Amino acid sequence: MRSQGSCHIGKSKGGHRWILFTDLDGTLLDRETYEPGPSLEALKGCREADIPVIFCSSKTGAEIRLYHERFASHPGVPFIAENGGGVFFPAGEWARPPGGEMSGDFWKVTLGARREDVLGVLTEAAEIAGLHIRTFAGSTPEEIARRTRLPLEEARLAGRRDFDETFWIEGHADPERLAVFREAVEKQGMRLTRGGRCLHVHGASDKGKAVRYVSQRYEETSGSVHTAAVGDAANDLPMLRAVDRAYLVNRADGSHDPDIPRDGKIRFLPGIGPDGFLQAVSDLLAYRRHVQA
Ligand SMILES: [Mg+2]
Repeated sequence: MRSQGSCHIGKSKGGHRWILFTDLDGTLLDRETYEPGPSLEALKGCREADIPVIFCSSKTGAEIRLYHERFASHPGVPFIAENGGGVFFPAGEWARPPGGEMSGDFWKVTLGARREDVLGVLTEAAEIAGLHIRTFAGSTPEEIARRTRLPLEEARLAGRRDFDETFWIEGHADPERLAVFREAVEKQGMRLTRGGRCLHVHGASDKGKAVRYVSQRYEETSGSVHTAAVGDAANDLPMLRAVDRAYLVNRADGSHDPDIPRDGKIRFLPGIGPDGFLQAVSDLLAYRRHVQA
């Protein structure tokens, strides 16, 4: 197995090793501007403490790759795409992970379902339910941009999906037809979820499953690790549940997502988006110093 090198693991003198998972939109990145702002200082702190920061987002691999090139804490860190549908490992730094296949400069690991299989299930379910759907796969980047209100270039990257199909229903969809549709999707072991402006069908994966998969890869190469995660919304909950130390940042309106339970296991931070991310990293670094003292 190729050596991972010490650059990927935050191992302190006391033997405590940390890896940090983070959501992007509304957490590491400002929800409106998509800029990291105060998160840059936090990423610098992680780099200096040798804690790899693993991006874990609903965005596609093609989209996250741009942020990875600009902001990665370490060049070799993997990233998790499409809400945990799959993981990308830089191939120059990692030996082939279980289930990995070459995709450009990365090992791509499918944890949910492949997009082509999702498309087959989606098309059949729509036929059974008598629904007229439009998929990203069947749309031009211009149509995706109009539908999602993303800039054209981002719509192009958002359309390059690997583990999920995004779609919308044309015309009126009555609840009965939708129920038939959902049942047909779930019968095939897949899931239907509602996003901001579109619907999604994807495999049985989530951010938590992907976090466990990546943590295992680090443990295989570098021994036992401690894990932390930062998020802002309900799709982050499986990730927050899968780690040793979890943080929730505030939303732009100054409130925490009501779907995240206040059960004492997740630390609720006052900072909004990147300000909260910086607070999470400051707390993690202080805690790490404390436990090794
Ligand atoms: Mg988010």
